[in-house]
Amino acid sequence: MNEIHRLYDDFNHVAQGRIIALANQKGGVGKTTTAINLATALAACQKTVLLIDCDPQCNATTSFTIEKLHPYGLYELLNQHVNIQDIIYHTPIPGLDMVSSSDDLYAADIELIDKPRREFLLSDLIAPVQFLYDYILLDCPPSLGILTVNSLVAANALLIPLQCEYLALEGLTALLKNMNKIQKNLNPNLDLLGIILTMHDPRNNLTNMVEDDVRNYLKDKVFNTVIPRNVRVSEAPSHGLPVIIYDTQCKGSIAYMNLARELLQRELLQQKTNSDSI
Ligand code: ADP
Ligand code: MG
Repeated sequence: MNEIHRLYDDFNHVAQGRIIALANQKGGVGKTTTAINLATALAACQKTVLLIDCDPQCNATTSFTIEKLHPYGLYELLNQHVNIQDIIYHTPIPGLDMVSSSDDLYAADIELIDKPRREFLLSDLIAPVQFLYDYILLDCPPSLGILTVNSLVAANALLIPLQCEYLALEGLTALLKNMNKIQKNLNPNLDLLGIILTMHDPRNNLTNMVEDDVRNYLKDKVFNTVIPRNVRVSEAPSHGLPVIIYDTQCKGSIAYMNLARELLQRELLQQKTNSDSI
């Protein structure tokens, strides 16, 4: 029996219930790769994790090859045809569960438009299982539409995967403005957890220039860990595996394990700062 099954039976256990949205309105910057591998790395650190695929492109779902195993996912959940408990898929990785997506979700922007509390749908639907998990990761689509807004309203923290490329900072500024609007109007509990630099290539001058700019602008909000460009990372999804399982020793896997450790350390530090200030 894996860890998460044990927790379901342990009514005294209250998990942390931290909800982290991985968002960036740009596509191809490493959101899904980071969501999958951070989720796996946190599970490897003995945390219980639920990964929710919020993107109609369903790359996280296909990367785990679960789309055929589990007929219902986020689309059915948002349309209130199912309960979240019924659509959670226990991955073979101990401690890591998942809710899948499907291309039906492309209609979400239109279908959800006249629902009551349409920005709070995901938040309300996650609530029954929130404290069964230490971390719930939301893999957002590359837009600032209703699915990303729902994710940011449900989340306690925003993690931004950022590729060091031309105009990266402009996209980042727009995203941070949106985060501030959501904080002000819909979710005062939302914080910026940090920026994680992805597909990092130190031999490329542009990478170094953009990295310097981002670190100057956002200081310690930028994770020290960077994720290197690594071919094993891009191969892993076609094998239906997170890179951490596909090739434990490659640079990409080591970086994602370091990212999980740094995230846990930052969270501990934050908790300590919060309790000291009470
Ligand atoms: P997003 O979810 O932001 O659209 P993805 O995580 O799907 O981005 O990544 C986009 C592409 O880049 C994918 O083909 C993925 O395999 C590849 N990729 C992501 N991270 C890395 C990396 N560290 N090294 C090499 N390729 C990567
Ligand atoms: Mg993606």
